[in-house]
Amino acid sequence: MKYAPVQNYINGQFVDASTDQTLPVISPLDGTLLSTVPMSVPKDLDAAVRSAKIAFPAWSHMPIKERVQVLFRYRYLLEKHLKELAALVSEENGKTMGEAIAEIEKCIELTEFATSLPQLVTGEVLEVSKGVECRTEHVPLGVVASIVPFNFPSMVPNWTIPNALALGNCMIIKPSEKVPLSVGRLAQLLKEAGLPDGVFNVVHGDSVIVNAICDHPGIAAVSFVGSTKVAKIVYQRATHHYKRCLALGGAKNHLLVLPDAKADMTAQNVAASMSGCAGQRCMAASAMVAVGNVDHIIQKICEEAKKIVPGENLGAVISKESKERIEHYITEAEAQGAKILVDGRKATVPGKEQGTYVGPTVIDYVKPEMAVAKEEIFGPVISIMRTNTIDEALAIENANPYGNAAAVFTQNGGMARYVIDRASAGMIGVNVGVPVPREPFSFGGWNESKFGVGDITGKSSIEFWTKLKKSTVKWNPEAGVNWMS
Ligand code: NAD
Repeated sequence: MKYAPVQNYINGQFVDASTDQTLPVISPLDGTLLSTVPMSVPKDLDAAVRSAKIAFPAWSHMPIKERVQVLFRYRYLLEKHLKELAALVSEENGKTMGEAIAEIEKCIELTEFATSLPQLVTGEVLEVSKGVECRTEHVPLGVVASIVPFNFPSMVPNWTIPNALALGNCMIIKPSEKVPLSVGRLAQLLKEAGLPDGVFNVVHGDSVIVNAICDHPGIAAVSFVGSTKVAKIVYQRATHHYKRCLALGGAKNHLLVLPDAKADMTAQNVAASMSGCAGQRCMAASAMVAVGNVDHIIQKICEEAKKIVPGENLGAVISKESKERIEHYITEAEAQGAKILVDGRKATVPGKEQGTYVGPTVIDYVKPEMAVAKEEIFGPVISIMRTNTIDEALAIENANPYGNAAAVFTQNGGMARYVIDRASAGMIGVNVGVPVPREPFSFGGWNESKFGVGDITGKSSIEFWTKLKKSTVKWNPEAGVNWMS
């Protein structure tokens, strides 16, 4: 085993969970056993909540300008350890080193945003009648929780950690049991940056801990990122206990390609969007709708896809089960009459035969009723459907239950606006295959891609991680005059 067994992190210390039950942590790159992760029990969560509760009064009363000093130092440490953090992400998740470096760079950007929160979180004050002031202030919620998925072991945790802490909360995070290593390293860096013990805690485990978080009376808010199936469970369970909850789910992102699109640029964007991080991004293009004759672009997409080589510029998918599931989708589509233009099944990397690789796959003549058209595949696969009009294409996009992202490729500004206005997704790209808003703009989808109000990052996160205190204050405006006399 390459690393020591993973431990929980409570009150500034790494501690064993109260269980012997563990799961193996296996690198998708080559099947190496990296570590084991404990399946913590509710008692472990109780200990984390206790430590966070004790830390909360001092942390929440520290002025925000002082709190963000910790995050300035954390940002510096992320940069200092960028390559090491990226190597860990790549090892446990399977993405390429280039993708992992980009992930840590995004963590730095997210932390930079959090350091700007003192500028954004100012309240309001107004003299509403003679000597009477109304004032609003954003105050922290208390102990909050963040539950995260496997596909971005460092970035998704950093969607929540810097903002929630800067705004004065204490946090318990439940990493994905598939990639538990990166968050432990982030805990060390936060401590080195000067974060007081107890403000940030890590409890590893599975649905037992997720359910315990939703039920725990000491936790005020739950942020969740993962599949739609689990997002619904978490949203219902947390709100049933009257907690604030924002639950981001899965996606099926459609790219609409028009005949006037720039062929080379479009092909490169489509291929990169569907295959980046081995297709395991909630912003990945998974369905393409060809509007009219775009055969020349489809041909170029295939050429681009063939340049993407597993083990070189394409990482692994998370597990053997994932690889089998993705390959099954391709086989099923083929059996139903779709045409496999580029086939990524049976990909292997010499010397890494235990790695779980799927090559880029382009499937044409997909019908909207096929599973590859409707379901989230979470692999480097694009399903092409063909329509004659933009309205038919939009009808296909609108009919899918998700709503994370959509994009249009065209040189016609009016047509781009038409799609922006009608696509049913929270994040829209125009000639951009992965339309992730950069800070300070917020990230979040619609429909079954997100449950709850607001977005997870950017300015929107202020509303989620704080509550408003409204005070009405009356002083005798003549008091000074009287005092002077
Ligand atoms: P997942 O839903 O399986 O797991 C997410 C978290 O929930 C993990 O911490 C896991 O331990 C826990 N969990 C799993 N099953 C559970 C259950 N039955 N009850 C309670 N908790 C449970 O997701 P994943 O496979 O880790 O990640 C991939 C999914 O996440 C994809 O669907 C992807 O689209 C989605 N995702 C969405 C966004 C977004 O912004 N919308 C971002 C990243 C990933």
